[in-house]
Formats: sequence, structure tokens, C-alpha cells
Amino acid sequence: MNICKRFIKNLTDVLTGKRILPDVNKYRFICYALAFVHIAITVRFYSLHYTILYVYNFLSVIFYLIIGTILPKKGKFYTAYLCCFVEILIHSPLATLLAGWEWGYMIYILALIPVAFYLSYSTTQFGRNAVKPFVFTFIAMCVFILTRILSVYIDPIYTWRVYDKNLTIAYNLNSALAFFMLIFFSVLFTIEIRRNEMRLESQNRILSDVSSKDPLTGLLNRRSIDVHLKEAVEHFKSKGEIFSVVIGDIDDFKMVNDTYGHNVGDDILVNVADIICSNIPEDAKVCRWGGEEILILIHGSVQTAAPIAENIRKAISKSRTKAGDALIGVTMTFGMAEYQSGYAMTKLISVADKNLYKGKNEGKNRVIA
Ligand code: GH3
Ligand code: MG
Ligand code: MG
Repeated sequence: MNICKRFIKNLTDVLTGKRILPDVNKYRFICYALAFVHIAITVRFYSLHYTILYVYNFLSVIFYLIIGTILPKKGKFYTAYLCCFVEILIHSPLATLLAGWEWGYMIYILALIPVAFYLSYSTTQFGRNAVKPFVFTFIAMCVFILTRILSVYIDPIYTWRVYDKNLTIAYNLNSALAFFMLIFFSVLFTIEIRRNEMRLESQNRILSDVSSKDPLTGLLNRRSIDVHLKEAVEHFKSKGEIFSVVIGDIDDFKMVNDTYGHNVGDDILVNVADIICSNIPEDAKVCRWGGEEILILIHGSVQTAAPIAENIRKAISKSRTKAGDALIGVTMTFGMAEYQSGYAMTKLISVADKNLYKGKNEGKNRVIA
């Protein structure tokens, strides 16, 4: 039961692209599956006493087992495909010319087409070459048409013990297997595309993080806060939504650096950033404005933003950052400004800055609106 559940889970993971099926397993599975199909065909031809065909099929079984065991392990996926391609291109016309077109052996040739396109997309050894699958398809098409023409002029050698009903069964069986190959490779193709999509999505996420965040504190950087500030101005103009900015600057930070070293200063900055993030509303944005200055965008008036800034100030002044055996405390001064109609962004920032410096002059560790 557990094995069954695990198999279904693994299969679902593979189909949804969460789990990567190693190429070795994939190609080995394909070769062994082909060997299995040829065992069935060998038995069938043996029962009909079609000597050439059952001997050929038997040799094909050995051929697929050997290439399935050796080539994928050595990473020779392209060679493995070439071997299968050539074998099927010989086998299908041979069976068709010896036993008759009605058996449906030529349908397998059609199944080779999506395989070539899949491999050119997914296997680097194919060189991600767009021309190669067309060449393979063209060869397959020529063989298909040539065999059809020959089968009109050459009568099959093996005609005994073949009844209409048996022929229909054989034809349907061959069609079903060829369909299975088509479905199998289409699914593999979908998985491959999905996997690449997921890889791109995660790389995009990393890139967007790198380009929008400050690497030390994890806060937004100036470029990305600019986008939020512009958006806030748009909302102010279109919906009348008020917003405020708070600029905070750590007090006497130079002295902290000089006393405890730059690394400790960095730790304090990270700690301060964490405190700010855990004391702001969900829709507020925090950015590392410069060195040890932080800008907070708060949706609401200064009356709404002032208690938030005051809470942050208190939390920072109570907090301590560990530096070896010492516990270091810092304070922060905040200046605020509410956006007014007709303000340029520089004006809003300069009002907040003026308030910040007023706070510094009045003795630091305070919020000035
Ligand atoms: P004030 O109370 O007037 O703000 O004094 P201050 O010493 O904090 O002000 P000042 O602007 O003179 O110094 C800021 C210091 O912040 C100088 C710089 O070394 C430090 N600093 C800026 N960015 C970083 C950083 O990323 N890491 C560390 N450790 N220090 C930084
Ligand atoms: Mg400063
Ligand atoms: Mg400072």
C-alpha cells in the first residue's frame, strides 16, 4: 500500500515538474520498454512461424537491452536515440514488406517524430538544434512513403495463418502502442517545459529580490521605494488616499562603529530593520534610504503615522544587540511629513528631513511631525 502511494506521489511529482526524472532513468526506461514490446512481437511471430521476423525481433530485444544498459549510463542519449531510430526504420518496413501493410507496423514510424522534437528540446547532445528533428522527420517520411509504394508492388511473403480478425487485433495493438509512445513523449515534453518554467520563475524571484532589496537588511532599496512612492502619489491624486513618510536616522552611529567596529554596526542595523518591520502596518513599506537612514511609507495622515513611529522608537531604544559579551543599545530619531497636494517628491522628503534634523537638534531619540 505504501509502495503504491509512494509510486503515485513520485509520478505526480514528476508530472507536475516538482521532481526531476534523471535522464539516465528516462532513456533506460525507453529502451527497456522497447525491448518489452519486441518480446511481445517475437512471441506473436513465433506462434505464426514467421522465422525471419521472430529471429529479427528476438535480436532486437537483445539489442534494446544492451543499449538500454550501456548507453544511458555513459550519458550517450543521442546515440541511444539514433540506435532506436535506425532499428525502428529497419524493423517497421521489414515487417510490413514481409507480412503486409495491414499489420500496421508503419505507425511506429510516426511516433518517432515527436521523440525527435522532444529530444532536440531537452537533450543538450542534440545541440538544441532545430534542424535535426526536421531531418529525422524527413527521413522517417521518406521511409514511410517508400515502404507504402513497395508494399503495393511486392506481395508479402508471410501470408499464412493470418485472418481478418487477427489482423484487426494486430493493427489495433500496434496503433495503441504507437499512440502510447506519442502520449508518453508528449507528457515528457510538457514536464520538461514545466520544469524550465519553474526554474525560470525561481530565478526571476531571486533576480527581483536582488534588484529590489538591500542585501544587508533585506529592506527595499531606494529604486523600489521610488516605485511605491510614485504609486502612492497616483492614489492620492486619483482616490484622495493620504500618505506620510517617516525618515529615521540612528543616533550617534558613527561612535558605535568607532567603538565596537563596523561588523557590530552592521548587526545593529539589521536588528533595527527587523524591529521596524515588525512594528508597521502590513501595507507600509520600509526602505534603506541611505547608510543608517531608513524611510517608511505609511498609508494615512501624520496623526496615524506618529504613534507607529513612536512605537518603533520605543522598541529600538529598549532593544539590545549582542556584540561578544556586551549588549549594545541605540536610539533613533524620526522626522515625518504628510503628502500635500502639489508636492514634488523632493519637497515631501525635505519636509521629513527638516523634522528629522529638528529632532536631532532637540536632543535625538524622538519623533517630530
Ligand atoms: P547622528 O546622531 O547625528 O545621526 O550621528 P551619526 O554618527 O549617526 O551620524 P553620521 O551621519 O555622522 O554617521 C553615520 C554613520 O553611519 C557613518 C557610517 O560609518 C555609518 N554607516 C553608514 N552605513 C553603514 C553600514 O552599512 N554599516 C555600518 N556599520 N555603518 C554604517
Ligand atoms: Mg546619518
Ligand atoms: Mg545617524
